[in-house]
Amino acid sequence: MDRYQKFASSGLGRQLVRRLGLPNPYPLRRDAALATPVLVGGASRLPFLKQLETGSAPYGALVFDASDITTVGDLRQLHDFFHPAITQLGPCGRVIVIGRSPDSVAQRALEGFVRSVGKELRRGGTANLVHVADGAEDGVESTLRFLLSGRSAYVSGQVVHVSGNAAASTLQGKVALVTGASRGIGEAIATVLGREGAHVICLDVPAAGDELSKVANSVGGSALQLDITGDPARLTSYLLERHGGVDVVVHNAGITRDKTLARMDSSLWDSVLEVNLACQERVNAALLEGDVLRSGGRIVGVSSIAGIAGNVGQTNYATSKAGVIGMVQTLAPVLAARGATINAVAPGFIETKMTAAVPLMTREVGRRMNSLSQGGLPIDVAETVAWFAAPGSGGVNGNVVRVCGQMLLGA
Ligand code: NAD
Repeated sequence: MDRYQKFASSGLGRQLVRRLGLPNPYPLRRDAALATPVLVGGASRLPFLKQLETGSAPYGALVFDASDITTVGDLRQLHDFFHPAITQLGPCGRVIVIGRSPDSVAQRALEGFVRSVGKELRRGGTANLVHVADGAEDGVESTLRFLLSGRSAYVSGQVVHVSGNAAASTLQGKVALVTGASRGIGEAIATVLGREGAHVICLDVPAAGDELSKVANSVGGSALQLDITGDPARLTSYLLERHGGVDVVVHNAGITRDKTLARMDSSLWDSVLEVNLACQERVNAALLEGDVLRSGGRIVGVSSIAGIAGNVGQTNYATSKAGVIGMVQTLAPVLAARGATINAVAPGFIETKMTAAVPLMTREVGRRMNSLSQGGLPIDVAETVAWFAAPGSGGVNGNVVRVCGQMLLGA
């Protein structure tokens, strides 16, 4: 809990928050248990929905399968289902709408509904839309388990596309590479992938060697001191020689060199574009050319809300992070043809050393300007990465999911 959150939950704080209409951050649940009981409505297309524990109010989650909605008139079903139920949703409740494809008027309309519900929910609730393509009905379990659990605590107002099937299993015996793993979000990603059973290769620059070894030891993985901007052949030879390849690659290493465009010299531009984008393209090409990424492989990029909305002083950074989204979109079909996937997370305001250094007022604004009125934690990004990386997420390809508590910036 941050300081304001502690204050807002005290006796006096609660009164002031109510009277002055101040942000009211609710402590988020981050555990793996599914939010139950679930009230399920709409079409009965997905076998997994039948497995969910149902019961009476207060509900943990409201799930509506809108797959059969084809006309504007049909959209009324959303009102009929959610209007009486929404007030019966418990704390940290989950709203999930299932669609078929965004390519029709009525199906595209679902996005506006879900994004508004996300903004209306109180007490840590989230709302997300999952488009399940025809024939991908058996590939949705990993996504629904993630969205229904506390692991998606900071993911709200998002649209996820599931386009294929995959059997659920763990990362046991898989090899995962996490760049920038010595601290912050990278450390959390390494920890969560290790918890899921992967052998994690933690990569960071030699200057971060001590912290890197600590992280690698704590997750039972290996430390690899390497500047990711170097020749990718060094990395691919390491992966082939030591592990015979790699199953999961998380491009987390990233830097900021902020200045307004008028004051930004070319070295600041070049270094950010190099670390955050160019070297990732080279590594991906090397992984694919040398067949280093094994069948069923997963590449996960780390974009940023700045890459979607833009930000003052971050033309270099936002360019690189929008490029990460482009990388996902262009490589998704290439990877699908190899039975692999590529997706990205786009974090919003996450409580790390990087954001702790932001001046107080800017920091407070960043922290509160989202539907959950609080910053996210590195673990929130890490859990989202672990969902993409899971063997059961083979049908989740080409997605960019914001982990931003539905920040008010951007789409
Ligand atoms: P951080 O600065 O704490 O960690 C980044 C790590 O990357 C560091 O350990 C650094 O040594 C490593 N790194 C940098 N250049 C490298 C290189 N050339 N080779 C190998 N390693 C290198 O940052 P963080 O806050 O944990 O962010 C992690 C990722 O998340 C970054 O890509 C960042 O842009 C993104 N992100 C963070 C936030 C946030 O709020 N913290 C928001 C949006 C996106």
